[in-house]
Amino acid sequence: MAKVLLVEDEPALLEALEYSLAKQGYEVLSASDGAEGLNLALSEWPDLLVLDIMLPGIDGLEVCRRLRQHSSVPIIMLTALADEVDKVVGLELGADDYVTKPFAMRELLARVKAQLRRVQMTQQEATTESDSPRPQRMLFGDLCIDEARHEATLRGRALALKPREYDLLAFMARNRGMVLSRELILERVWGWSYDGGSRTVDVHIRWLREKIEPSPSQPVRIVTVRGVGYRFEG
Ligand code: CA
Repeated sequence: MAKVLLVEDEPALLEALEYSLAKQGYEVLSASDGAEGLNLALSEWPDLLVLDIMLPGIDGLEVCRRLRQHSSVPIIMLTALADEVDKVVGLELGADDYVTKPFAMRELLARVKAQLRRVQMTQQEATTESDSPRPQRMLFGDLCIDEARHEATLRGRALALKPREYDLLAFMARNRGMVLSRELILERVWGWSYDGGSRTVDVHIRWLREKIEPSPSQPVRIVTVRGVGYRFEG
């Protein structure tokens, strides 16, 4: 049974979340401020966090930032009404998904399920790989992607990639030469199986281009396929 940690300071919302998640069979832990949430996350090692951004004391963004120094646990952020800045900052700090308040409980439950499934698939992949390892290094000129070390280097120097940027780069490189739609990228890299996240893909592609393209405004490695998505050029 997966263990879910809720960090939310609105008592009524916290109670509704506790009830709904418990009803789905999850083990539920809860905290009503950032410090308590961080302590629980680091002592109980939950399988997933639902983390409000606006919290007393340490806010959700800071909790996310600190937690990412120790853990890759999936984090779903709860953001205030359509606050684009919070969403982008949250994703940049390593959150995996976000839900905008007010939200329908079934939407949140679907995303919790999707994130837990994504982690499970990654773990299964890792287990299978140990039996029959796939090529551990992909070389594209001066760009090298080392799958065993979860690292990419450019001209021999390690690139400072956030975990999701690495996942995106490795996914695109494994599927080089193919046109990848934003929807497919979202599903395979983020575990999202719904619309509405294409901006997230675009933002991450932009960050990646700044790190791996000789001239980010005229990309040659990750090219845009108009009206469809992106293609990684081998
Ligand atoms: Ca709040």
